[in-house]
Amino acid sequence: MKSEFYGEPVDWMEAAACRDKPTEIFFSHRDDGDQSWPEGWSYDEARAICNDCPVRVDCLSYAMTHGIKSGMWGGKSPVERRRIRRLELKEIRRVREAS
Ligand code: SF4
Repeated sequence: MKSEFYGEPVDWMEAAACRDKPTEIFFSHRDDGDQSWPEGWSYDEARAICNDCPVRVDCLSYAMTHGIKSGMWGGKSPVERRRIRRLELKEIRRVREAS
């Protein structure tokens, strides 16, 4: 069976370790990242599942490519993905200035 998400093939999701897990483990009640955690809530449970996921790289790549701002993707929280994006942009600026 072919899977699509936002109109893009996401066959890798078929092998996701979170496939049968409750969505609320991976998403806080608000969509603005780690700072929005309800008291006592964290991404720890999701992170543990992601750490053993065979499609972790595909998942993180998908979230980074599409600028997904909420939830745990590829074992990275929204705040962690923003840090990765800042590092990418910093490297792009460095390469641009060096050329
Ligand atoms: S890395 Fe985590 S969120 Fe992504 S597919 Fe695997 S278990 Fe799900």
